Amino acid sequence: MRHLMLAGNWKMNKDLTETQNFVQGLKVYAHKHTESRVEIVVAPTYPFLMTASEMLKGTPAKVSAQDVSANDDGAFTGEVSATMLASLHLPYCIIGHSERRQYHQETDDTVNVKLKKVLKHGIIPIFCIGERLEQREAEQTNEVLKRQLQEGLCDITLYTGKEIVIAYEPVWAIGTGKVATPQQAQDAHNFIRAWLSENYNGKVSEKLLILYGGSVKPDNIKELMLQPDIDGALIGGASLKLEHFTAMLDTAGEVVKQK
Ligand code: PEP
Repeated sequence: MRHLMLAGNWKMNKDLTETQNFVQGLKVYAHKHTESRVEIVVAPTYPFLMTASEMLKGTPAKVSAQDVSANDDGAFTGEVSATMLASLHLPYCIIGHSERRQYHQETDDTVNVKLKKVLKHGIIPIFCIGERLEQREAEQTNEVLKRQLQEGLCDITLYTGKEIVIAYEPVWAIGTGKVATPQQAQDAHNFIRAWLSENYNGKVSEKLLILYGGSVKPDNIKELMLQPDIDGALIGGASLKLEHFTAMLDTAGEVVKQK
């Protein structure tokens, strides 16, 4: 049986003090709420990854990076390598977020290179895929997901399904307040799981966590998490307030008992 994961993607938000204040509150929450079938992850910006990791040591809450360089090391001003992230013992790294694809021209090939870099260092990628509005309207959703999966995971072997987490994030739902209906999300997750079964095997498909992302909030998370193929959420805006994030963790704790 799969557990649930709620991952807060803070994007370019929170300075040092704000990061510390949130993480301190999360630490207190995580100590009290030990529902081990809800995994808690937060993704602060690069400068504060170490602070957040150290503060959360000894708690069940974990830290993720938001991106990684496609290069190993050297003259790449402003970039951070997988080796560097691994030296912080980070368990997770978000890869292929639609904002990276949109504003930094990341292609499926770039995403594939980045996935391989972090996997080589034992970091679990949270691999983001999802269609744009015009693609959904043209009924190309499954085709787009298939291409992103095929190209993103090209030459990547999965043995257990636990090496990677996939986040289905319809681009039209990210930061827009327009959430996919639970059925739309379930259909996409089911398509992804079937693709995994066909292209890897039943075990990988059964074990791999598939998160939904796109305007998840305290008041819509329950119905989404109840869907059989939805194993958690990647949450942007609503993860920035501690009380919203912990409210969603509480809901996930209730839902996981019903799954
Ligand atoms: C995201 O950034 O991954 C995301 C889903 O953002 P939001 O929850 O704000 O839509």
